Amino acid sequence: MKIRLAAPLQEDSVVDGFGVRTVIWTQGCSHNCPFCQNPQTHDFEGGALFDVEDIKEEIKNLKNQNGITFSGGDPLFQIDAVLEIAKFAKRENLNIWCYTGFTYEEILKLGEKNKNYLEFLKYIDVLVDGKFVNELKSLNLLFRGSANQRLIDMPKTLKSGKVVLIPESDGIIETFSSKKEKLFI
Ligand code: SF4
Repeated sequence: MKIRLAAPLQEDSVVDGFGVRTVIWTQGCSHNCPFCQNPQTHDFEGGALFDVEDIKEEIKNLKNQNGITFSGGDPLFQIDAVLEIAKFAKRENLNIWCYTGFTYEEILKLGEKNKNYLEFLKYIDVLVDGKFVNELKSLNLLFRGSANQRLIDMPKTLKSGKVVLIPESDGIIETFSSKKEKLFI
């Protein structure tokens, strides 16, 4: 299986979720949010194709990373490939974040036609959902660009059946990885 990426894996990011993370920059997005910061990732024929098995091997060899983050582009346009990678990363005890222009509710709708969307959500620790809305842009938001976007605690959301947001006000965040380390932000 192949995945189209905008760039090779980027290790040591501290701005794409809690802790130190490796970002998977997927290529392809049709949400067309005005003032998108990554317009070069929109073209579905852009970037380059990578073998998912090679990406898994790279993930296996990661050192000193709290987790991985799917970003883009929109990872959900390549649901089969990101599901495969997410399953593998979870087996490697990595915490997983995913940025998407779809809202959580829209993903549930997509899941009615393709169960892989629902399956994918089971492996995600934090879903950052929704399009970037320039009118709602703020530099004070944690790990997202506009106020409509949510940091959704996926395990708690799936368990309770209603959207649960992660707390972000006390300066000390307990991550949702299996390691349960405390991180100061
Ligand atoms: S979803 Fe993300 S990558 Fe796609 S247009 Fe919106 S901001 Fe850009």
